[in-house]
Amino acid sequence: MSGAPIRVAVLGAGGLGKAAAAILARKRGMRLTAICDRGGILHAADGVDSSGVVNLPATSCVAELPGGLASRDAIGDMIDLGRAGAYDGVFLALPNLPNEFFPSVLTRFVEAGVPMAFSDALKRTRAARLMFGLDDRVRAARSTYLLGCGATPGLLTAAAVVAAQSFIEVESVRIRWGVGIANWEAYRATVREDIAHLPGMTVEKAQALTDAEVESLLDARGDTLELEEMEHADDLLLERVGVVDSTDRVTVGGVLDTRSAKKPVTTTMTLTGTTFLGARGSHTFTLADETTMAANVIGPALGYLKRALWLKERGLFGVFGSTEHMPMVVQ
Ligand code: NAD
Repeated sequence: MSGAPIRVAVLGAGGLGKAAAAILARKRGMRLTAICDRGGILHAADGVDSSGVVNLPATSCVAELPGGLASRDAIGDMIDLGRAGAYDGVFLALPNLPNEFFPSVLTRFVEAGVPMAFSDALKRTRAARLMFGLDDRVRAARSTYLLGCGATPGLLTAAAVVAAQSFIEVESVRIRWGVGIANWEAYRATVREDIAHLPGMTVEKAQALTDAEVESLLDARGDTLELEEMEHADDLLLERVGVVDSTDRVTVGGVLDTRSAKKPVTTTMTLTGTTFLGARGSHTFTLADETTMAANVIGPALGYLKRALWLKERGLFGVFGSTEHMPMVVQ
């Protein structure tokens, strides 16, 4: 890896895309050179003005910013920029609605013949399985894709891999997250995808809800969602590397409060196992309440993107989970 900053493209300019722009502005080792949303793209070879992106209202589009271009196919235009060498790596901050959306985006990069390094913050187990199904094609395209690189899965699942080293047998991994966001519209996909975990809901039903329906659903629950037994790819990613022998040993649940930025509960990952001496115990990894969801998703996602590029430069191609490699540190 040369000393020049890694040029990053971000797909999606919603809550996490904007947070990525804000965090990239604080990094010497990476530079945001392209970003898109549903309505357009913004590209600048010497770096996109992050404050414009960060301060863009949720109802606006990056095409409205100086240098922005309206587009009916922003993903296609971003792929063209990639082919033209406008960036080195991609972070996907797109909605996982439906489960096939991320696989379709990756397939487009593959079919365009643009070798690339990627990371994402994908959450759903079924979507992750579809992504792993693209491994052969991604390898043939000489690309490297690290998936599930947010907080959960991501930071917390990586911590579980480290925690598992003390034990001969792992009994359970329990993740409980707390997220506070002051305004649900800043993180529409995150909120809709959490709603999809409510009893009787599906990803498709959540995707079809109007904004007014989301608001009344939140209203009816006191603007708080308490979720148990979520379908989160932490299970698949931990099974893949042998931390657990079956996905049902991993449980994920949490509390989302859409009234305030204060976390409603502390986020923890607790791994319980038995040591070589037969002692049973638990390691717990606790996130500081002061760290927001955005900090705990984007930090790891950029660290993993740097790792994806490192792997690609060494000829290690394919689709990997965040449990298979350590994130690197981005200065
Ligand atoms: P958001 O709704 O705020 O933003 C999504 C962005 O994607 C918007 O800018 C939208 O215009 C853009 N977009 C949608 N379709 C597009 C298309 N076809 N072409 C180009 N752009 C398109 O979303 P968010 O709340 O920032 O969440 C993003 C993702 O992050 C979600 O999938 C969510 O599940 C995930 N997430 C992961 C974690 C984790 O810990 N792993 C935590 C929170 C969120």
